[in-house]
Amino acid sequence: MEATVGVSEMVAPALPKMGPLEKVYVTWLAGGSCDGCSISVLGATNPSVEALLGGTVPGLPKLELFHTALSYESGAEYINLLKKCESGEYWPFVVVLEGSVPNEDLAGDGFWIAIGEEKGRPITTAEWLKRLCPKAAATIAIGTCATWGGVPAAQGNATGAMGLMDFLGPDYRSTFGLPVVNIPGCAPIGDNFIEVVAAVLLFLQGLAPLPEFDELGRPAWIYGETVHRGCPRAGFYEEGVFAKEYGDKECLVEKGCWGPVVQCNMASRGAINGMGGCMQMGGVCIGCTMPGFPDKFSPMFAKPPGAEISALVAKRVTGAMVKPLRALTQRDKNRSIRWDERVPSGWAPKGKPFALDRVVNYFYKKVQTSR
Ligand code: SF4
Repeated sequence: MEATVGVSEMVAPALPKMGPLEKVYVTWLAGGSCDGCSISVLGATNPSVEALLGGTVPGLPKLELFHTALSYESGAEYINLLKKCESGEYWPFVVVLEGSVPNEDLAGDGFWIAIGEEKGRPITTAEWLKRLCPKAAATIAIGTCATWGGVPAAQGNATGAMGLMDFLGPDYRSTFGLPVVNIPGCAPIGDNFIEVVAAVLLFLQGLAPLPEFDELGRPAWIYGETVHRGCPRAGFYEEGVFAKEYGDKECLVEKGCWGPVVQCNMASRGAINGMGGCMQMGGVCIGCTMPGFPDKFSPMFAKPPGAEISALVAKRVTGAMVKPLRALTQRDKNRSIRWDERVPSGWAPKGKPFALDRVVNYFYKKVQTSR
């Protein structure tokens, strides 16, 4: 199936005239998933899931969550909640999908994934999506499986799994005129998800315009930069210094890091509450937010094709020049003027500054005063 257009390519939907809403229902469905996205969202802090469910965030309505794993209701009682959304008794509601959508046409007499049953017949996740998404105020795909298909959709899989926007087709729009909103990542940062939900809720209430999404329906402010640009190891890359082993503190590009091309804010935001994250914890970027994942990033942990050249250039050209010059400047800036004038001091370097440092300093001052 073809991918749908991103929000930026369509005519922006008009601001709804709803006004502040008291409550919005969230129907969280599971496809082919590991539940990692749920766990990640439970770790969100800014604001937390609890704050949204309690309705304590200014400007945002209280959320009532129907979650396949977290809801108190189970069995027929839980299915009834979904049916109330379908019938319009619970409205407005937002559909969130975690996990990929399998192609039930390939399941023969059986089925791949179902949530509950009706008259003794399993209701597949795919059927729920067909029943609920056209009536939803907004539809959000969380995680790489729900957005692009992810690992369950890797080449050779038997289920024909795909992402939600592929499943719903290019013409899909919610009742408020939105195509599927995509928040990829395996798992995505919980705060990324909450932030987008908050933006969508403000839009649904007519309190704020829809924020910018890119051509793939990703929030542009979250996925607009590469991992590399926010990586705490990027300074090492620039100086051409690379980790030889896992556990080394330097840039991991020679260990197979895809950070320079992958769009994700994990390195700058951290996994939970600003802490953790792939590179922070010593791991390489394996490209999990990208539609080409996992096939186009396999075998994982092998050096990316461009890394050989860029690492060589960083080592032999830019790094070879920049690093020694910085060391020189650092050595000079680690001396106070008093020490330069040879005033004896406890830890201070003894003796005169190096001749080279004096020359560098002389020219530095010249440049500064000529400005
Ligand atoms: Fe870039 Fe990866 Fe190196 Fe970080 S570890 S600086 S993301 S290549």
